[in-house]
Amino acid sequence: MRMPLRVEQDIFVVRQLGREVARAAGMEQQDQTRLATALSEVGRVLLAAGHSADVVFEAELNGVPRLRVAVVSPQSGNIAELKLQLGQVGRLVDTLEVGDGEPGTVVWMARRLPASAPRLTPERMDEIRAGLSEHVPGTPLDELSVQNQQLIAALNEVRAQRDDLARLNAELEETNRGVMALYNQLSQELEETNRGVVALYAELDEKSEQLRTASEAKSRFLANVSHELRAPVTAVIGLARLLNDPASDPLADEQRRQVELISSSAGDLLTLVNDLLDLAKAEAGRMEPEWAEVDLRAVFGQLRGTLRPLATRPEVDFVVEEPSVPMLRTDELLLTRVLRNLLTNAIKFTAEGEVRLAVRTVDDDVEFTVVDTGTGIPPELHERIFEEFYQVPGSRAITGKGTGLGLPYARRLAGILGGGLRVASTPGRGSTFTLALPVNPS
Ligand code: ADP
Repeated sequence: MRMPLRVEQDIFVVRQLGREVARAAGMEQQDQTRLATALSEVGRVLLAAGHSADVVFEAELNGVPRLRVAVVSPQSGNIAELKLQLGQVGRLVDTLEVGDGEPGTVVWMARRLPASAPRLTPERMDEIRAGLSEHVPGTPLDELSVQNQQLIAALNEVRAQRDDLARLNAELEETNRGVMALYNQLSQELEETNRGVVALYAELDEKSEQLRTASEAKSRFLANVSHELRAPVTAVIGLARLLNDPASDPLADEQRRQVELISSSAGDLLTLVNDLLDLAKAEAGRMEPEWAEVDLRAVFGQLRGTLRPLATRPEVDFVVEEPSVPMLRTDELLLTRVLRNLLTNAIKFTAEGEVRLAVRTVDDDVEFTVVDTGTGIPPELHERIFEEFYQVPGSRAITGKGTGLGLPYARRLAGILGGGLRVASTPGRGSTFTLALPVNPS
């Protein structure tokens, strides 16, 4: 559609037509007013600058459908000045460009059509064109009244929006107050919690310090007491032996029996004292391993020789395998003590079947296993047996003695050697104690 813009009167007509085109293309009321207003402003500015122009309406249908309006003047003018004057008008439409028409001046405007607008098929365009050609332009007075109505509608809308805005602001303020209150409460709670945590940590530090001192005191006490006890107990044993010596004055049978009792009790006491002393030393961290390349065949050979006399039950096979790992960097004395401890236990608690010592490499460790087919240990006691003095209920009846210090000591030594000691056991089936030592102790 095209129409001329020559005299002031035409501005009204262009304005009316612009609104009609926008309506026919499916724009909403507000957008119709925007486009019409933009068009009349462009017309007014161009006429005031001494231009005469043609207004061309086009529909742009590829991509997002838009209504495009070109206001084409054959005269060239000051483009920069026009741009300045139309700056505000540009806000009424999506795009507004002022350019050189070669020759002349062109103002392009475009506004998107809403998604709800009916599709602009060629037939629909023909229809719109036919409808608009019958359009009879109203008088300036008519246009003034339409404009007034639009102004009133716009003002109403602005007021409604302002009210909405005020309501929203009030709500927002309320919410803000709520959020602030919540925030204050939370940060107060957080602060309180933090204070609590700090106090707790301080207490924890203090307690662990106390614990450390207590544990050191215990080890010192054990070491001193057992050391002090060793001499008199040894003396008792010696004196008892002397009393029972055939070279001494002969004793009555009852007396001999009593002296033997003294001697055996003192022997038990000495074992306990020695065990305690060992454990105290290991716990005090005063034990420095002497690292060396240890020949495991020799260690196994020695264990085989010294423990065979203990494995007296014919129903029990005592097997020390040939070590599949010939050498290991460790402390020979400590390693031997741990293994002897485990083997002695296994022999004590096995009535029939087998006690077997073996060694193999597992990942970065060398694992020594002492497997027996003895009484076994209930699963809930697997950790307790590593506590000092703990003995599985009933086991004293089987062995007759024992201090309950062997396993805690063995585990200490395993730690000193850079490894660990663990147990797997099923009651009635037997136990497997595994000493894992690093191939490369640091
Ligand atoms: P002790 O042997 O002197 O009693 P230990 O610390 O060596 O002390 O062992 C603690 C307890 O663990 C033992 O009293 C026994 O109840 C249990 N135990 C240890 N080794 C075995 C084993 N091979 N089979 C069954 N029970 C065992």
